[in-house]
Amino acid sequence: QQDERESLYLVSEFANKYFQNILHKTDQGKSIGLGYFKERGFTEETIKKFDLGYSLDEWQAFTDEALKQGYKLEFLEKTGLTIVKEEKRFDRFKGRVMFPIKSMSGRVLGFGGRILITDKKAAKYVNSPESIIYHKSNVLYGIYHAKQSIAKEDNCYLVEGYTDVIQFHQTGIKNVVSSSGTALTSEQIRLINRLTKNITVLFDGDAAGLRASLRGIDLILEQGMNVKVCTFPEGEDPDSFARQNTLEELSLYLIENAKDFIQFKASVLYEESKHDPIKKAETIRDIVNSIAKIPDRIKKEIYIQECSKIMDISEEVLFSTLAQIDKKEF
Ligand code: ATP
Ligand code: MN
Ligand code: MN
Ligand code: MN
Repeated sequence: QQDERESLYLVSEFANKYFQNILHKTDQGKSIGLGYFKERGFTEETIKKFDLGYSLDEWQAFTDEALKQGYKLEFLEKTGLTIVKEEKRFDRFKGRVMFPIKSMSGRVLGFGGRILITDKKAAKYVNSPESIIYHKSNVLYGIYHAKQSIAKEDNCYLVEGYTDVIQFHQTGIKNVVSSSGTALTSEQIRLINRLTKNITVLFDGDAAGLRASLRGIDLILEQGMNVKVCTFPEGEDPDSFARQNTLEELSLYLIENAKDFIQFKASVLYEESKHDPIKKAETIRDIVNSIAKIPDRIKKEIYIQECSKIMDISEEVLFSTLAQIDKKEF
């Protein structure tokens, strides 16, 4: 079991080196892969820092090279780098730019691969499958590069995608990680909890991003952590926004627009429901449900007071609703 893990790590590290080599040393890599990253505004330094790579647009170029170097097909298949189908072998990440996903200590666990031209036929991102070294729910993209800054700044920015993490670094903000492709999990939050008690959720300025941040909030509160939410203008994500702004502008935006979770929920949900009594009741219940997740009783009380002011409803009713929820849960 330990030997098998080690073999998977070795294959992944080889792949990481291989994809970088293709990006920097081959004609296809340079023109298509590097061209793509430059187009996105990534500097040479950034590309190197994140070990970005490219996988040739050929059926089994990577697999052939790995086998030639002595890596066993069994482990290539177990990492998902090679797909074996009826005796045939295919590279999983054919013709994609590559983002290695690393553990807290910097070992390569898996990859995300982005297609260069988005069309409806192929998935924009393909990720490594689960393996004995890659448990998606336990991994945060960027944690290796962010851990020191998270502790130092005593805050962690949580974004949706690989490129959001990378663009933030390039702009100068390093305390940032991404759940990349999976819905945020408690295990991922626990990883952050070891470094700081404060999370600022920065999801995309679209409907999916909004839903994801609302879901994330409760998971974070449950662990007794403080959560703020900062949204971006419609159609923007942290990557696109950071690209258009300087570090000073970005920092100022984050400070001015990061709302405490209750203000966020109130501004999003309450504003759209306050004229409809039934919807308003649902929203209030929803917010009290979030408050119920906070383990600390003093914080709970403070939030109830705040909620009462924002929603224009008595504290008494809120406390009794809270008591009902607590009773149901225990
Ligand atoms: P880009 O800027 O390169 O278009 P993004 O990070 O803004 O990418 P989103 O569409 O906002 O992409 O999705 C957020 C994250 O969700 C991605 O970074 C990726 O990890 C994951 N993701 C997106 N599309 C897919 C997909 N089709 N399959 C698997 N994961 C995906
Ligand atoms: Mn999105
Ligand atoms: Mn996005
Ligand atoms: Mn994007």
